[in-house]
Amino acid sequence: MDILKIGEFEILPGEQRKIDLPVAKLYTDANVSLPIHIIRAKKPGPTIFVSAAVHGDELNGIEIIRRLINEKKFKIIKGTLIAVPMVNVYGVVNQSRYMPDRRDLNRCFPGSAKGSLAGRVAHIFLNEIVKHCDYGIDLHTGAIHRSNLPQIRADMSDAATKELAEVFGVPVVLNSNLVDGSLREAAVRNETKILLYEAGEALRFDEFSIRAGMKGILNVLQHLGMKRKTSASKKKVVPFIANGSQWVRANASGIVHNIVNLGDQITKGQVLAEIGSPYGEVIDAVKATRSGILIGKQNIPLVQEGEAMFHVAYFSEDDEEIAERIETIHDQLLPDNED
Ligand SMILES: [Zn+2]
Repeated sequence: MDILKIGEFEILPGEQRKIDLPVAKLYTDANVSLPIHIIRAKKPGPTIFVSAAVHGDELNGIEIIRRLINEKKFKIIKGTLIAVPMVNVYGVVNQSRYMPDRRDLNRCFPGSAKGSLAGRVAHIFLNEIVKHCDYGIDLHTGAIHRSNLPQIRADMSDAATKELAEVFGVPVVLNSNLVDGSLREAAVRNETKILLYEAGEALRFDEFSIRAGMKGILNVLQHLGMKRKTSASKKKVVPFIANGSQWVRANASGIVHNIVNLGDQITKGQVLAEIGSPYGEVIDAVKATRSGILIGKQNIPLVQEGEAMFHVAYFSEDDEEIAERIETIHDQLLPDNED
């Protein structure tokens, strides 16, 4: 029998379970564990993990997983889905991106059983979850006070990963290098094909980002044959692959008047924001250095000189077409939205 063993838990084909995988206690003597949902079909097939809150303040993914496993009709027909809504459970408690030892968990992989607290959590997650998986989707958001347009980051030089990135169905894919110590790097070493989904802002739920993420996971499960295709899922979005991206920075300190929104088409030289003094006069205009699509922005209307304000992705395709497609997807996922 094909038994999946996670910690002390044994999960059989056809079982659906929630387990609590113990990690280091708090100094208050309270036990801490990673909540893990495992859904196994009777039929053998691929194993995929979906993880969220590797950065503890990035909450959209927690909601994406909650909605996914609570979907009434949710059922997989083959293989195994392992959903881990809070990898950095300590960070979630503290509403912080970081671990209590101030480390970034996403720079502590592969970690070790005798290492730092962050290293130990990384080690447990890698060995108890990722090691079993052929595929993985890691859900992130922008940093605190920064919003991201829903986007996939993946190694597009790998054919199987590229295929998954395209299937996910968000309009923008950023071909991105592996960061040392990241979960993505550790997964790739384990030969787990992995996508990183980035959408929305830390400490906030963003409905568009949540819906686009859920849809993307369902698209991937259907593509892998783990879920039955529905008639509504036939419409395919072919993403645009960004060749690169750059943050546009403020050249003056002051009060920000934003002119552009996420998903907007940007042309070189276009004014993205004006920076004014507290007394009303415009001090400086923040201009795009290249043409592209706005995929990230900072939300606090106050800047210091040198601060990153707008994240622009560059494409070889027509930017206008990309902006139109982003708008179409937005309308499909949020039909009642006024903005
Ligand atoms: Zn993150």
